[in-house]
Amino acid sequence: MKQLISRLSPLRLAPNSAGLDECVRILQEELPFKIYEFKDESEVNGWIVPKKWEVLEAKIRDINGSIIYDGMGHNLAVIGYSQSFVGRIKATELKKHLFYTEAFEDALVYHCDLYYKPFRKEWGFSVPKQVYDSITEGEYDVELRTSFEEGTMKVVEYVLEGESSYSIVLNAHNCHASCCNDDLSGVAVGVEAMRRLSKLAQRRFTYRLIIAPEHYGSIFYLSRLDDEEVSNIKWGIFLEMLGNDNKLALQRSFIGTSLMDRALTNALQWVAGDWWTAPFRKIVGNDETCWEAAGYEIPFPSLSRSDGKSHFPEYHTSYDCPELINEARLEEAVRVILEAVYILENDSIMKRKFKGLVALSHPRYDLYKPFADPSEPDRRTISQMQIKWNHLMDCIPRYFDGETRILEIAERHETSFRNIFEYIKEFEKKGLVELIPAPATNPVPRELPPV
Ligand SMILES: [Zn+2]
Repeated sequence: MKQLISRLSPLRLAPNSAGLDECVRILQEELPFKIYEFKDESEVNGWIVPKKWEVLEAKIRDINGSIIYDGMGHNLAVIGYSQSFVGRIKATELKKHLFYTEAFEDALVYHCDLYYKPFRKEWGFSVPKQVYDSITEGEYDVELRTSFEEGTMKVVEYVLEGESSYSIVLNAHNCHASCCNDDLSGVAVGVEAMRRLSKLAQRRFTYRLIIAPEHYGSIFYLSRLDDEEVSNIKWGIFLEMLGNDNKLALQRSFIGTSLMDRALTNALQWVAGDWWTAPFRKIVGNDETCWEAAGYEIPFPSLSRSDGKSHFPEYHTSYDCPELINEARLEEAVRVILEAVYILENDSIMKRKFKGLVALSHPRYDLYKPFADPSEPDRRTISQMQIKWNHLMDCIPRYFDGETRILEIAERHETSFRNIFEYIKEFEKKGLVELIPAPATNPVPRELPPV
């Protein structure tokens, strides 16, 4: 995953650029993505696909002709979607067009506002704060040439068909030049998760990985779907900022209680290290807002890493580089996604095929979870986990009511879905119960008696 991030990070990514086209080409080497193209200046609800934008020349010279800043030196050094400007201007005027971050003296800030407000005809450079401070008086010659050409914005989609046309979307964005954690980390995690999902012998749901420029990609992708295609997309996960050392963060969907929220919660509880959660749009803002938009309303939690303050110190700066990315952190995110998928794939309701108390310790069943027994030397003291499982064993047959989901049992008994599922599968093998795939709808959480 880190290798892919390092390969994509030198590209001059933008919503519509040669760098984005090259990114699409590289992604196709990873997985057989399908490409959707949207012509520049196409519009949906006031969102306008930007023109294909490139930087051709970007120098600031002092009055003696010495170059004091060359904006060709880094992908972020000219602000995104900057207009051209050639002319001699005073230091005070020049400084109105220089943008910097306070976070690090020598870093460049990622300036993306103009991509989303093409009606703002501005030009500018992103400079280290020390360069900004060094410009005090006098006049400067600016030679900034950019081009705005016809071209298409590319959205790529990789589909893994399942038995059902009900889909689960993984989405990440690929439009921030030279920003690795935000969000080439999400791109790499999405690719790896799909690669592993492709190896599953059986899939109940269809999976779609969509990699696209932030907002524009999701908005235009959704705009080409008909109502039936939209209603088949059951849930999604937005993937971002997954490679740094912050805790994993689950930002819940708008309704907050969708099956995807609940599956991710159980997955995080049992396969992740430290993590935290907060409601919709309280951790980070990305394309979940497009999928959740009125009329679509697809529950779309987001999985990221965040310190709850500024996301991460290097956020939207040139310090968001490959060295920041930790492969083990990416791997943990993949594990959480796959565990949530495991839950959704296997969540079932159970139909009982017996009546009354079954002697679970009978060799025919061999389903007994022992409790403490002072007469048995190896059972005089037992662990908290054994106590929990003994209690579960007593409760589980009551859930074979054709209504309760395994995920509900896991939530109620604060246990991993996987362990309960495996235990109930044993009941099925012994002919005590029939498992039926749980409905792919978002149930209203039910009040069950306290345990
Ligand atoms: Zn960003």
